[in-house]
Amino acid sequence: MSLDARVVKRSGGHGHAVVIGSSFAGLTAARALAGFMDRVTVIERDWLPRGPGRRRGVPQARHTHSLMTAAHQGLEQLFPGIRRDLVRAGAVHIRMPEDMLLLGPAGWLPRVPTDLSMLSAGRDLLDAVIRDRLRADPKVTFLQENEVVALEPGPQDTVTGVWARGRNRRESDGWNPERLIPAEFVVDASGRGSQAPEWLAELGYEPPAESVADSGTSYATTLYAPPVGHVADFKSLFLMAAPDDPRQAVLNPVEGGRWSVTIAVGDGTLAPTDHAELLRAAGALRHPLLRDLIETATPLGPVYTRGRTDHRLRHYDKLRRWPDQFLVVGDALAAVDPVHGHGMTLAVECALVLDRLLTAHGTAVGISHRLRRALAHQVAPAWQSGTRPPQAAPGLRSRLGRRYASRVAAAATADPHAAALLLHQHQSLDPPAALRPRALRAALRPRSEPAPTAPPSLTHGPQARRRRPTAPTAPAIGVSTGSATRPRPTGSSAHWPAAAPAGERRRP
Ligand SMILES: Cc1cc2nc3c(=O)[nH]c(=O)nc-3n(C[C@H](O)[C@H](O)[C@H](O)COP(=O)(O)OP(=O)(O)OC[C@H]3O[C@@H](n4cnc5c(N)ncnc54)[C@H](O)[C@@H]3O)c2cc1C
Repeated sequence: MSLDARVVKRSGGHGHAVVIGSSFAGLTAARALAGFMDRVTVIERDWLPRGPGRRRGVPQARHTHSLMTAAHQGLEQLFPGIRRDLVRAGAVHIRMPEDMLLLGPAGWLPRVPTDLSMLSAGRDLLDAVIRDRLRADPKVTFLQENEVVALEPGPQDTVTGVWARGRNRRESDGWNPERLIPAEFVVDASGRGSQAPEWLAELGYEPPAESVADSGTSYATTLYAPPVGHVADFKSLFLMAAPDDPRQAVLNPVEGGRWSVTIAVGDGTLAPTDHAELLRAAGALRHPLLRDLIETATPLGPVYTRGRTDHRLRHYDKLRRWPDQFLVVGDALAAVDPVHGHGMTLAVECALVLDRLLTAHGTAVGISHRLRRALAHQVAPAWQSGTRPPQAAPGLRSRLGRRYASRVAAAATADPHAAALLLHQHQSLDPPAALRPRALRAALRPRSEPAPTAPPSLTHGPQARRRRPTAPTAPAIGVSTGSATRPRPTGSSAHWPAAAPAGERRRP
């Protein structure tokens, strides 16, 4: 019997859904479910702040987070108007590579227009703005300081709820007794540390096979107030890894006029742990511009480090027996090394798949089977591009792939189509072997000029003109004239001062 022929609704309405975890995957899944179910409860182990605030459950929030093109476009589909809300709250919109100085694997990219952009903000702010949207939805309830500990099985391979325990600091173990929260649909969005394999094993299901690969990358991040009178004709700096240098670094503007700076060390060495080491590490990168920028900036807090982040994919789609009405999304399903900034994109894509399939099929028998397959398909490109560095794979095909990648990277330093393709590939919008005719032509054309060694900027690098810091002669972007110790608020918002208005940009 086909799945369609067996379509049965399990309740009069669509009932109650539970989402485990209220980080990016949980918030976006809750939005998708709220479009279909009668009620959604988001269960979160942490206390949830009003507005942006640190949480133990999301330690990576201290590191630079960019909401890449597919992520903010998908988010806009789920929460219409959310980009406007994020920008009002202080997120900075950055066109790629127009608003950036971007050192690609073979040299600086020209600042040409493409269809790519990112939103840059502190991770706590991103979550807070989305959380506020959900709080305003009468269908959605947050159950904070509650931890899910098990799934409740139902008849014929179904899940009919979760067992959760609330925090109680007066109890010796810190928790209240476990209680059952019934649900017609359960989504696990509890991140890399997801206990879903153990919960399923308790119910007699096979654990999923896992693919794990050590990325060898560790991260160091800190915030800065830009130097007094800082003027730049770019908003962001990104030094990509190159075949002979796996280190990369980013300087992104975030709310409050601050800079979030991350250095990713991909050669197995440890990431810098204090400001002096970070400055030294910045000086040892492929170009000294990051060091020059942060040398006179004011650190606004400690250097946070994150050890090696492995790639981990759980093959839930391969399991033959599986409880219907249960799904695993986000990092709990596929956690990729953050070096490409894919994690939030994958979370949003999981939510869009959920939205699409629930709208098409409802919570019919077999929906989890469809969803598991669709999600595996969705996460595959990011997983493959994250885990298969072209240098590592043997064989003719990969040699050709490597050759093609290096031709695209070289052409990207002069040709806008090749530059766009390189960035598409970096964001997994195009597969590594994508052949775009105009980019291909540029990649095959013999190079007549060497790649530019200086950043395409009139304010920084060898082409920089001396200018009076407080009265720029040309309108500039990414301008900060705040005090050295504390970024100066400009405008106001619920969470953070609005970003300084960007003036007109002068093409370098
Ligand atoms: C250094 C670094 C930099 C990154 N930079 C980027 C970037 O620039 N762009 C990008 O897109 N991605 C980036 N990422 C990836 C991104 O942070 C993650 O992909 C994203 O947060 C995944 O979200 P998630 O909701 O799946 O899981 P998580 O963010 O891990 O959240 C899991 C949530 O579940 C809760 N929870 C866990 N267990 C339970 C339980 N039993 N009961 C109730 N609640 C529970 C936790 O408290 C937490 O709130 C970066 C990651 C790192 C480490």
